[in-house]
Amino acid sequence: MSQSEILFKRAKTLIPGGVNSPVRAFKAVGGSPLFIKKAKGAMITDVDNNAYIDFVLSWGPMILGHAHPLISQKIETALKSGTSFGASTPLEVKMAELAHEAFPSIEMVRMVSSGTEAAMSALRLARGYTGRDKILKFEGCYHGHSDSLLVKAGSGLATLGIPDSAGIPKDFAKHTLTVPYNDLEAVRRTAKTIGSRLAAIIVEPVAGNMGLVPPFRGFLEGLREICDLYDIVLIFDEVITGFRLSYGGAQQYYGVAPDLTCLGKIIGGGLPVGAYGGKRKIMSQISPSGPVYQAGTLSGNPLAMTAGITALKILKKKKPYQDLEEKTAILVEEIRQAGKKENIPLSINQIGSLFTPFFTSISVTDYPSAKTSDTRRYGKFFNLMLKEGVYLPPSQFETAFLSTEHGEKELEKTIQAARKAFKKL
Ligand SMILES: *Cc1c(COP(=O)(O)O)cnc(C)c1O
Repeated sequence: MSQSEILFKRAKTLIPGGVNSPVRAFKAVGGSPLFIKKAKGAMITDVDNNAYIDFVLSWGPMILGHAHPLISQKIETALKSGTSFGASTPLEVKMAELAHEAFPSIEMVRMVSSGTEAAMSALRLARGYTGRDKILKFEGCYHGHSDSLLVKAGSGLATLGIPDSAGIPKDFAKHTLTVPYNDLEAVRRTAKTIGSRLAAIIVEPVAGNMGLVPPFRGFLEGLREICDLYDIVLIFDEVITGFRLSYGGAQQYYGVAPDLTCLGKIIGGGLPVGAYGGKRKIMSQISPSGPVYQAGTLSGNPLAMTAGITALKILKKKKPYQDLEEKTAILVEEIRQAGKKENIPLSINQIGSLFTPFFTSISVTDYPSAKTSDTRRYGKFFNLMLKEGVYLPPSQFETAFLSTEHGEKELEKTIQAARKAFKKL
C-alpha cells in the first residue's frame, strides 16, 4: 500500500469520505486520492514522493504557481506581526483599493473568507436591497454550498427549485429558479412572468463548474438588459474568472458590468479569502451602514490580505494573461490533434488559461451537453495521465488551469502523456 492509501484509510475513519471537500476523494475518476506533502511552481509532490505537473492549482488560486517566493516571503514577514487582530488593518484598505482598481464596477467591497460566503452574502444583500425573495441561477453553475444556491433543477423553462443536497428545506429552495446556461430566451420568459419578484440573477460569466463552458456571444449583455428592465440585481460570480480570465475578470474580458461581483480563489493568493462588491448604493445596505447583516471573525485576516495583495500586485505588473492564453491554446490544440489521431470523440473547451476536455462528439454549451461526456472514459484518461505524472482535475465537471510556471518542458511532457493515454483509451 502507498502512503497515500494508508492515509486515506485512516482519514476515512475520522473525516466523512476521508476528505474535507468531496471532489478530492477521486470518486468521479476511480482510484485512491493522493495526499500531497508539498508543491512548487507547476509541480506538486505526494507523500510517496511522486511529482506531478499540476493542472488543478488548488482549483484555481495558484495562477502564479505554488509557493511563489515573494508571496511566501511577504507572508513570513506578516506572520511576525501577529496572525489575527479582529480589528481593521491598513492591508484591508489596500486590498479594497486594488479590487476597485481592477474591477471598476466594484465601488465598494467587503472581504470574507471563502467564495461560498461571498456568494451567499451577495444574495442576501440583493434580497435586502430589492425586498424580493426569488433568485434565478443557471443549471450547472456552482456558487458555493449555501442553501439557496445548491439548486440546479429544471431545464428549458424555469421550474420550481428542487434541492440538490439533502438538508435544504423545500420552502427555501423554491425561491431559487434555474434555467439552462446560455439560454437567454428562457431567462426572458422567466423574467416576463416573475421579473418583478426576482431579487437577483446570479451567473458564472464563464462557467467553470460543469467543466469549462464559455458564454455565447450576447449572453451576458442580454442578462444585463433583462436585469435593467426589471430592476433585478445582476451578480457575476467571478470566484474563478476574477484575476484569471483577465486582471479585471470576465467583466473586463467581455465588457459587461454587473451590479455585484463575487471574488475568491486568486484574490487570496492561496489563503482562504472571498470578497463581494459592487455598486455603492447596493453595498451601503450592508451592516453597519445598512440593515443587511454580514460579519466574520477572520474577515480581512492580515496573512490572507498579505498573500492576496502580493499576488494581485504581481499580476498587475506582469500582465501574464496573453502569454497564458497562448500557452493554453497550444496545449489544447496538441491534445485535440492527439485525440483525433486515435479517433477519440473529444470536444475541448478553452478560454484564457482554462480548459476542459469533454469525451463527447458534440460541442458543450450547457449542462445537458456537458453531461453527454463519457465520464468513465474521462476517469480512465485521468488515471492514465496521473501515471505519466500529470495531475488533472479528478472530475469531468471541473476546469483545468495553467499557471505562469507551466513552461515548455511541462507542456511538452503533458502532450506526450496525452498521446500515450489516448492510445490506451
Ligand atoms: C470555488 C467557487 C465558489 C466557492 O468558493 P469556496 O472558496 O470554495 O467556498 C463559488 N463560486 C465559484 C464560481 C467557484 O468556482
